Amino acid sequence: MRRYSVFAVAREAARYHTGWERAWASPEPKKRYDVIIIGAGGHGLATAYYLGKNFGITNVAVLEKGWLGGGNTGRNTTIIRSNYLQDPSAAIYEKARSLYETLSQDLNYNVMFSPRGVMMLAQTEHERRGYERTAHANALQGVETSFISPDRVKQLVPIINISGPRYPVLGALWQPRGGTARHDAVAWGYARACSAMGIDVIQQCEVTGIRQKGGKVAGVTTSRGDIACDKLGIVVAGHSGVLAQMAGFRLPIESVALQALVSEPIKPCIDVVVMANTVHGYMSQSDKGELVIGGGADGYNNYTQRGSFHHVEETVRALIETFPIISRLKMLRQWGGIVDMTGDRSPILSKTPLENCFINCGWGTGGFKAIPGSGWGFAELMARGASPLTEAFGLDRFREGRFIDESVAAGVAH
Ligand SMILES: Cc1cc2nc3c(=O)[nH]c(=O)nc-3n(C[C@H](O)[C@H](O)[C@H](O)COP(=O)(O)OP(=O)(O)OC[C@H]3O[C@@H](n4cnc5c(N)ncnc54)[C@H](O)[C@@H]3O)c2cc1C
Repeated sequence: MRRYSVFAVAREAARYHTGWERAWASPEPKKRYDVIIIGAGGHGLATAYYLGKNFGITNVAVLEKGWLGGGNTGRNTTIIRSNYLQDPSAAIYEKARSLYETLSQDLNYNVMFSPRGVMMLAQTEHERRGYERTAHANALQGVETSFISPDRVKQLVPIINISGPRYPVLGALWQPRGGTARHDAVAWGYARACSAMGIDVIQQCEVTGIRQKGGKVAGVTTSRGDIACDKLGIVVAGHSGVLAQMAGFRLPIESVALQALVSEPIKPCIDVVVMANTVHGYMSQSDKGELVIGGGADGYNNYTQRGSFHHVEETVRALIETFPIISRLKMLRQWGGIVDMTGDRSPILSKTPLENCFINCGWGTGGFKAIPGSGWGFAELMARGASPLTEAFGLDRFREGRFIDESVAAGVAH
């Protein structure tokens, strides 16, 4: 792989950009791999990357039924933060956030990480107490957050209405190094780095069956033939239940559609990410000037990547209450993704009842921010059989009642 650099840009400019090579290869599947990862979303690709980078395991295939990053990784609102309450969550999300800080350099690919600051508004007394508690917990966990006053909120985001009619702003949980990154670029950057290490990223290759022998995984059946492997990682977000069924076990997961929308582009008016959990909406402004707006999840299970109109209406209503100046903006487009929700709103990174088959799922409405940390920990789990980052997120926690309750930290979909 030829590195991207200022010299490469100058060289290509001089020869009319005729010399760029393809960012990643499109290989035919081999008959056998040491490791197969199902799903070329951010989590699957990051897992493959850290298997290669941290453990030297590069005889790896990432199999994707569509195009890479075409699942939730390319459909989210790109919020990155690590202000979670429980210690295991703070550890994995902060690992991810800290990896994001230097991900562009690490991958030699600009993922446009923008640590512009994330604030979660407290609009009820209950929420205020919850966020103050989280700020204290974060101080102990080494995550930089603070609880800020309504005046400071207004100073940071002048367009906010802090004395709203229903829910005045009582303060906010503020993470100054939270922010956003370009979601496609995260998938593309990992794919390019995987390809450079000799890892096969194979698109248009749907896994239709999981083959096993003597209680162990033996390989997969795909739309492009059978492929054998020693270890298998299932990393398919909203389709986790479908793949688990192929492997012969059940998951405590529900799949629902979550949607987002963007406005027409306008001049810069908000340079931080604001989440308003009580009225239920959140917003940031993209580099193109569009307001990126996220709403809630459907209240019923489904696999459609669309979303429903009443959510758009509810979300827009909530945001107009918080930011009255956006009331006359036109909305440009809306889309949905299928998110994988667990009961405690925490992910599953785990061994499974099928030997050498591992699963990484349950990131629900908030897994984009976790991609580097999840890939790091899941690769270690797959390579070594255990990882301090993933230890608390095993499947057995549902049987043993050891929930990692993040329903407050994940109170709004993001
Ligand atoms: C509207 C919306 C807004 C969001 N906002 C945020 C946010 O602001 N911040 C945040 O942190 N998170 C957010 N999220 C959540 C985040 O997008 C996801 O948690 C994360 O992208 C999951 O990544 P993944 O790699 O696990 O899954 P995906 O990116 O969905 O990748 C899974 C891949 O598996 C493939 N696959 C499925 N079945 C098969 C099969 N049988 N064979 C081969 N391949 C298969 C799929 O095609 C897909 O490409 C949001 C999600 C949505 C939908």
